[in-house]
Amino acid sequence: MSARPAAERRADLLALYRELSDHQCPLAASRTKVVFGSGNADADLMFVGEAPGANEDRAGLPFVGNAGRLLDKLLAEIGLERGDTFVANVLKCRPPGNRDPLPGEIEECTPHLMRQIDLIEPRVICTLGNFALKLLSGSKQGITKVHGEPQDREIAGRTLILYPLFHPAAALRTPAVLELLREDMGRLPALIEESRTTAPAAAPPLVPDRPAEVTHEATPSPADDQLDLFG
Ligand code: URA
Repeated sequence: MSARPAAERRADLLALYRELSDHQCPLAASRTKVVFGSGNADADLMFVGEAPGANEDRAGLPFVGNAGRLLDKLLAEIGLERGDTFVANVLKCRPPGNRDPLPGEIEECTPHLMRQIDLIEPRVICTLGNFALKLLSGSKQGITKVHGEPQDREIAGRTLILYPLFHPAAALRTPAVLELLREDMGRLPALIEESRTTAPAAAPPLVPDRPAEVTHEATPSPADDQLDLFG
């Protein structure tokens, strides 16, 4: 149950998008565009990947290349589409040459991800690959050990289900990983349903729950209507 009306949270998400869109950080000199994330600002399901690649850097949108197309295909197989979810990354800017994120970059960018989680209020977060998993689980256990095992976690002050998934790019490289990712994603609809019916164990919200003013409304483009940034 949401603590704040969806319309308020969505407006704050748009403000955060604007704030970050010319954010100066160590990666600012090499990036083309900040990749804030896109999708439904009130989604129950959120995906967190690693960092934008070259396609995402050009488009300013997450997962628009081959890995993103695979993600869309696997979502369609379970009756979902991108607009039912919010997709973001650990890093909002592309590391040069697609190198791994550095610890300092992750540290600097983490507050933005936490703020997104705080505003979107997802019930289930799927981490895609090891960087998002290790950051959000706070554990060193890698994806090969824990993929497909839901974890109850408190993240950004909310109790939610963390669901570790292989990164779609790894699935593109290795057919056996693709099958594991497909199997794990196959359990997502039941997990989301469960998260909607099970009361969170977290501390109660600071204000009484009110019906959301905007329920599952896809957030329009913040800056101009041509960019289909939020759904
Ligand atoms: N890989 C990621 O982790 N994120 C993207 O946005 C694209 C590819």
